[in-house]
Amino acid sequence: MSTAAPPEKRPALFFDRDGVANASPGPGYVNRLADFRILPGFLDCVRAAAGRGWPCVVVTNQRGVSRGLTPPAELEAMHGLLRRTLADRGLALLDILVCTAADDNHPDRKPNPGLLLTAAARHNLDLSRSWMVGDREKDVETGRRAGVAVTVRLDDDGTGANPDKNKPSAATYRVPDIAACADLLRTRLPDLRAP
Ligand SMILES: [Mg+2]
Repeated sequence: MSTAAPPEKRPALFFDRDGVANASPGPGYVNRLADFRILPGFLDCVRAAAGRGWPCVVVTNQRGVSRGLTPPAELEAMHGLLRRTLADRGLALLDILVCTAADDNHPDRKPNPGLLLTAAARHNLDLSRSWMVGDREKDVETGRRAGVAVTVRLDDDGTGANPDKNKPSAATYRVPDIAACADLLRTRLPDLRAP
């Protein structure tokens, strides 16, 4: 009989995509690679996380796919660009999970927690120690439903016109933008590599 201990679960840093990893498209969708503008502060967040031993996962609603507005190949190209941009800096994402469903009640469509639950099962992640970062209160609610420890909400989504900017937030931390989120991670994110 094997006595090997099961691999220990680790927490993850979950990020919304639009308004966090890339500038928000505003009320519509990012339908083309040419309109996918990566935010430098996001790269800094992944760097801060990696330096503390945290895996990073992007979780995103992309209803434009099921509405026929976002070609799946363009979506793949955007995520390829994001991965290459990180790889050029020696960084990586553990996973990118996408919900393309149009139905607001779909279990994977945020604020439902399905994408986080899937990531946790797939990668042996401990949601109770994980963090969730987003530009909308919907992302904060997603984190709450998934049972994460810490939520972070950005006021600016890369456009200066985040509709949630002036809403009260249920997040653990509220920061001006994704660059400020990187500062927060550098000061508040526990170091998982510490002995
Ligand atoms: Mg967003």
